[in-house]
Amino acid sequence: MNVLMIGAHPDDCEIKSAGTAVLFRQLGHRVKYVSVTNGATGHQEQGGVTLARRRAAEAAAVAAVLGIEYQVLDILSGDLEATLPYRKQMIALIRAFEADLIFTHRPNDYHPDHRHTALLVQDSAYVVTVPSNVPLTPALPRNPVIGYFSDHFRRPYPFTPDIVLDITPVWDQKLRALHCHTSQMYEWLPYNSGQLDEVPADEAARLEWLRARRAPADAQRAEAHPELLAELYGPLASGVQYAEAFEVSEYGRSLTAANRRELFPMLPDPATWSTGAPA
Ligand SMILES: [Zn+2]
Repeated sequence: MNVLMIGAHPDDCEIKSAGTAVLFRQLGHRVKYVSVTNGATGHQEQGGVTLARRRAAEAAAVAAVLGIEYQVLDILSGDLEATLPYRKQMIALIRAFEADLIFTHRPNDYHPDHRHTALLVQDSAYVVTVPSNVPLTPALPRNPVIGYFSDHFRRPYPFTPDIVLDITPVWDQKLRALHCHTSQMYEWLPYNSGQLDEVPADEAARLEWLRARRAPADAQRAEAHPELLAELYGPLASGVQYAEAFEVSEYGRSLTAANRRELFPMLPDPATWSTGAPA
């Protein structure tokens, strides 16, 4: 399978789906991250060429850690709008990767880049199968399944997952991916939340600081949807410490009980509740 994860900024896919990316890679599937913007405005001191190149280098480091492909589109962060030319670009991008499964933001989100990224993906759904639209890039034979990243926004309706994945065994790999984003994790995000003076200088101490900062959200996700977790993991659910969750968009192909394990082959087989993870 070809699994395409589309975030607005370098770090969005990592925060919401790095564990899932590793799980797909472990089973031999192709995974690509796309950052729709270059992230060149999200910093308290740097910007422009310097920051764009820095963010691209951080994304490349993540690609090496996770064993995935990574593309950063050269659109200035903060300036993204879901316009027709960008929609055409998104359609071509999804087709070129022959995506079976796409993950992106929900369309209701505090950040305009996240919202417009979601709209671009939503507006590309179905049209990716229409040959006369962007005719020089061959259309896909079927609409991909589209999953939304988790979030905490409650209006107009709260995040309602269809899939919760156990990322406990691969959480350290997720942490190492996040650690690649020095300019975000140790500079901009703590600056923006008034915690810059808490960031340790030492590399090992930074990693532990980041662990303490990032683990609670994935631990909370493992506790937030007990019924779905029990349905998907049976007796293994009690061992799930960290999770990532996804809500399926109505605009993509449907996720059904019949195709669920085919699309998410890391889910354990209910016949044996074995994990199917590589030995
Ligand atoms: Zn973002």
